[in-house]
Amino acid sequence: MSYQVLARRWRPLTFETVVGQAPIVRTLRNALAQERIAHAYLFAGPRGVGKTTTARLLAMGLNCEQSPGAGPVPCATCPACREVAAGRALDVIEIDGASNRGIDEVRALRDNARYAPARGRRKVYIIDEVHMLTEPAFNALLKTLEEPPAHVVFVLATTEARRLPATILSRCQRFDFRPIAGTEIATALRRILDEEGVAADAVEPDALRLLARAADGSLRDALSLLDTALAYGEGRVATRTVQELLGTGGADLAWNLADALLRRTAPAALAGIGEAASAGLDLTLLCQETLEVLRRALLLAVTGAPDPETTDDEATRLRALGALGEGGAADLLLLLRGLLDAEAEMRRSPHPRVDLEIAAVRLCERPRPEAIETILERLEQAESRLRGYGGSAETAAATQPDLLAPAPEPASSGARPADRPSGSPARVVPRTPRAPGPPESRASAPGSAGAAPSLARAAAAPGGRAVDIASPGTAVGGAAAWAQIVAEVTRVRPTLGHLLAEGVVVGEDEGRLRVAVPNGNAFVQDQLKNPTNRDLLLEIARRLCPGLKDVVLTPGLPEVPAASAHPLVQAAIELFEGEITQVRAVAGPAAGDRAAPETLGGEAR
Ligand SMILES: [Zn+2]
Repeated sequence: MSYQVLARRWRPLTFETVVGQAPIVRTLRNALAQERIAHAYLFAGPRGVGKTTTARLLAMGLNCEQSPGAGPVPCATCPACREVAAGRALDVIEIDGASNRGIDEVRALRDNARYAPARGRRKVYIIDEVHMLTEPAFNALLKTLEEPPAHVVFVLATTEARRLPATILSRCQRFDFRPIAGTEIATALRRILDEEGVAADAVEPDALRLLARAADGSLRDALSLLDTALAYGEGRVATRTVQELLGTGGADLAWNLADALLRRTAPAALAGIGEAASAGLDLTLLCQETLEVLRRALLLAVTGAPDPETTDDEATRLRALGALGEGGAADLLLLLRGLLDAEAEMRRSPHPRVDLEIAAVRLCERPRPEAIETILERLEQAESRLRGYGGSAETAAATQPDLLAPAPEPASSGARPADRPSGSPARVVPRTPRAPGPPESRASAPGSAGAAPSLARAAAAPGGRAVDIASPGTAVGGAAAWAQIVAEVTRVRPTLGHLLAEGVVVGEDEGRLRVAVPNGNAFVQDQLKNPTNRDLLLEIARRLCPGLKDVVLTPGLPEVPAASAHPLVQAAIELFEGEITQVRAVAGPAAGDRAAPETLGGEAR
């Protein structure tokens, strides 16, 4: 007797044994029990998930001789059922849409449909791959579907329902078959093996999980694979043989790549990619499989349990992988994102290998997850150091030259703003500007002769609009005054205001505020030289700061080194491994508190 493949031998003969399509089966059984039968059904879904099987069961049920209510329908035992199961029933006509796709075939079908069933109650036409029909054939079929003979039921099966004309779709009761879950497939395989008499200890559960996963939702594919595995393993189904059978060499490379990425060993990652390339493997597939490995490691990391399709061996490997990542789920998320992007790139790229290699190297050099925590910690340190500067006048005064003024500038002495009572030693300046008084608080500041009224006092003057100025005669105080002036100019003449906002106060002496502005283009220069603009600026500056006589704009921003020489800036550069990209005056009332360059660029690592 010739061997019948498992998929045919174990084709379900009852609705109970259909795997993975419970809602559809239930609906059809109810329809049969209540005799609410449509004239046309559409079974849509991927291949190998039970569409044709279910269509045959429906045909059996429609002609089953079992009396309603006496037992399950179809019964699979009466002569009518057995004829359908054996493919001998005259009233169940199966047509392959791919090879009978023309109008003549459909016309013949239509003519034939008119005749009453030969033996049963209904004539059932099962048209497989119905999307293959030609347009005229569809039109002919549509006529039949519009006015079908009472004894006819059509079951149209397709893997591509979207290719069917809307007119056909609208006349069918549609059922969407879903891919069968790997666990359901594995269970079905186990049951079939039991019924085949294969001993339980001859089958490794991991092997069935591997087979089920390789079948990708198709029970038919899973059964074919099982057939092969049984033959290959001489009646045993071992994980090792299934792996060999499925050719999972690529999978090993994917595991290795995931491993290398998690360990940040770029050489190993590149070697793995090279190995895959020289073995002729599809690198996009390698990328996808690596993604899958990392995805499952993520699931395991997040849920604490592997997904049901994971074999025991794989679960162990996944746990080992998860232990490699320093940041747990965060690290895995970074890798997944990176590989997803790489995969998208690879699809478009003429050099997918290079794309994958770039991604691999980049991912190996990803920031360490603990970096964020370290940065926060460093920020806190920096903050407390800043507070420390504010709290200890001696240190501050001794170590901090004024930030924004070039070194030789005589007026560039510095005093730190501080949140502490006045009267503390040297250079202490109260935050709230006081009435003009003797500059005793800055006695030691060089070049600070009180000859000209300083901006600090000046800015405090106009009713209530006092600027919080750190110290008279300092550029820091000047910066706050300048911010105030710029704000007012912006209100009156926005264009000019925005240009001036780029300016940096470099000094203040004898009632002259010296401001460096960027070397702009001709337009900028014109704007700044324009007498009207100049007058407006002076007018506003003098109004806001009565002691101010002049504003001197000098093209060209101060050198960065002047700022970078500041110990706070140096400390920040060192802490964050950053670099200075821009130096700007700090505006606003808090200016006095934060006299550091506001934009300290650079990437924390
Ligand atoms: Zn029956």
